[in-house]
Amino acid sequence: MEIFIATCNPHKKAEFAEMFERLGVSCVLRGADEAGGMPDCDESGETFAENAMIKADCLAKRVPPGAYVMADDSGICVDFLGGAPGVRSARYSGVVGSGADSANNEKLLKALQNVPDEKRGAHFSCSIALVCPDGRRKIFEGRIDGFIARRESGAGGFGYDPLFYVPELGMTTAEISQDEKNSVSHRGRAFEKLAEFLSGENSGGKIESTSKG
Ligand code: IMP
Repeated sequence: MEIFIATCNPHKKAEFAEMFERLGVSCVLRGADEAGGMPDCDESGETFAENAMIKADCLAKRVPPGAYVMADDSGICVDFLGGAPGVRSARYSGVVGSGADSANNEKLLKALQNVPDEKRGAHFSCSIALVCPDGRRKIFEGRIDGFIARRESGAGGFGYDPLFYVPELGMTTAEISQDEKNSVSHRGRAFEKLAEFLSGENSGGKIESTSKG
């Protein structure tokens, strides 16, 4: 099974490879660079699933027959902000590049400055889109629930991890190991559903697996 990922980012490719290895999915993983590059596509969707599918559809036009294409999209949704920043998580503060994560976290802390603990609920969400060689299009979703802390803790992870406190873990997702995060995170959960579907494909079955949560 050959799977093209709708990204040229080598870190993302390494992360996907690690996820597949952990879940025992055997496949040949290829970056968009191996299909002539990631075409420009307008990520104008209002949901993570829409944006993931836009990226997967864009690349699907370029891959050789018989190959699968996958793309992911994720972000943080804060209850008090009506689900924002959501699909705008990466560009929440407007800062681009190396300072974006800290600017985003600073903006989020300000937005929740006087908000009491019980109203600081939030979740990370991840949607993975898969386009199969026969044209079937699938979405696999995962989420992890928590709260926005009042200050950053932890040096691991990326993005909003230092602010994302998970009561069951008793710490933020920046304070756990990458392995631990993979097993509980929104991305890890979405990958588990994708892996279940792909194992059905590998064994010749056609398993319907597009559940949420
Ligand atoms: P992407 O779709 O995976 O590129 O994620 C978009 C943005 O959502 C990132 O730039 C982060 O700001 C945020 N985000 C997504 N997943 C995570 C996570 O696991 N931890 C922290 N931030 C995340």
